Amino acid sequence: MMPIARKEQFFSLFPEAPAFRFRQFETALFDPTLRDFSGISNMPLPMRETLDKQMAWLSLHPAHVLESVKKDTYKAIVELGDKTRVETVLMHNARGQWTVCVSAQVGCAMGCTFCATGKMGFTRNLLSDEIVDQYRFWKIFLHKQSEASGRISNIVFMGMGEPLANYDHVKESIGQLLRETDLGPTHITVSTVGLLPMLRKIVKDPEWPAVRLAVSLHSADSDTRKAMMPSSFDTFLEELLEWAKSYFEKNESRRRHLTFEYVMLSKINDTEKHAEALIRFARRVGKVRINLIPYNFTGSVYRDSLPADFARFETLLKDAGVTVMRRRTMGDDIAAACGQLIVEKEKQ
Ligand code: SAH
Ligand code: SF4
Repeated sequence: MMPIARKEQFFSLFPEAPAFRFRQFETALFDPTLRDFSGISNMPLPMRETLDKQMAWLSLHPAHVLESVKKDTYKAIVELGDKTRVETVLMHNARGQWTVCVSAQVGCAMGCTFCATGKMGFTRNLLSDEIVDQYRFWKIFLHKQSEASGRISNIVFMGMGEPLANYDHVKESIGQLLRETDLGPTHITVSTVGLLPMLRKIVKDPEWPAVRLAVSLHSADSDTRKAMMPSSFDTFLEELLEWAKSYFEKNESRRRHLTFEYVMLSKINDTEKHAEALIRFARRVGKVRINLIPYNFTGSVYRDSLPADFARFETLLKDAGVTVMRRRTMGDDIAAACGQLIVEKEKQ
C-alpha cells in the first residue's frame, strides 16, 4: 500500500490543530539532533506522545549503507513504508562539502538502455516526504559521524527515477528543502531525461522554484539518442532547442545556463562525428554547459569510452569553445556514483 503523506497523517491525528503547529512539526524534522517527536520542546507533551505512537520519525530506514574505500562516497539502500527500496548517495564535493543525490521514483518507466534503473521498470512515485527524508537521513548520518561531519551544500535529483514524471511531489519536496534548510535554489539540481511537456510546464509555472536544470542529452544525433533512450523521438532535438529559447527568455535576468549531461559510451556516442553534432547543437542552444559522465555499469552491453576517445571528445568540444566539464568518478568501488545505481543488491 502506498504510504500516506505526513501532512495528511498529522491533520488526521489533530484535525483541530492550527497551521503553525504543523509548521513547527515540519521544522523540527530537519533538526539533526532530534531522533523522535518527544524532543520537539515547543510542542504540547500529549501531542508529542501521540506522534511518537502513531508516526515514524523517518519515512525510510536503511537496509544497507556502503562506504567507499576513500570514505568520500556513501550509498544507502533505503526501505520505504511499503517495503520498496530506493538508493540515495552522499558524495564529498569539490567545495569540500557534501552533495546528496536523491531518488524521485521507485524504478523508472523511461527504459534508457544504458541505465540500471531503466532495467527495473517503474513501481511508483515517491512522496515528497520520502524525497526530503533521503536528505534528512544523510544529515543525521553526518551528525552522528564526528570524523566525516560537514555541511550538505548541494542536492541533486540524479538517483533512481525521472523527477519530472513525478512533478508535483518533486516540486513540493524542493519547496520544503528551500524552506527548512540553508540551501538556495542554485544549489539544487533536477536532472531530467528531457520530458518536454514537463519542461514546458516548468517555464509556465510561476511556482516552480529557480533550481538548476540538467537535461540528459547523451547525443545530439537523433538516431543515436533514440537508440539509447526510447523516450526520444525524431523531432526531440528541435523541440528541445525551441524549449531552451523559452527557458532562457524566462531566466534572462538570472543569467542562467543550461546543463546537458552526456554519458560517454564507447563507439556509441563518443566519436568525432558525435562531437561535431554536439558542438553544432550546443552553439545553436547558446548558454550551455556539457557535463561528460564516465559510464559505470558492469552488467551492461555498453562499454565506457576508451581514455583516448574520451580525451579527444573533450578536446574537440573545448577547442570549439563549448563549456565542458568532466564529472569525477566517485565511489566506483560501491557502484555509487550518482546515476550509476546498481540492481544487484535487489537480487540478494
Ligand atoms: N532520470 C533522470 C535522473 C536520474 S539519472 C535522468 O535521466 O536525467 C542521472 C544521470 O545519470 C542521467 O544523466 C543518466 O543518464 C545518468 N546515468 C544513468 N545510468 C548511468 C550509468 N550507468 N553511468 C553513468 N551515468 C548514468
Ligand atoms: Fe530513468 Fe534517468 Fe535511468 Fe533514463 S537514465 S531510465 S530516465 S533514471
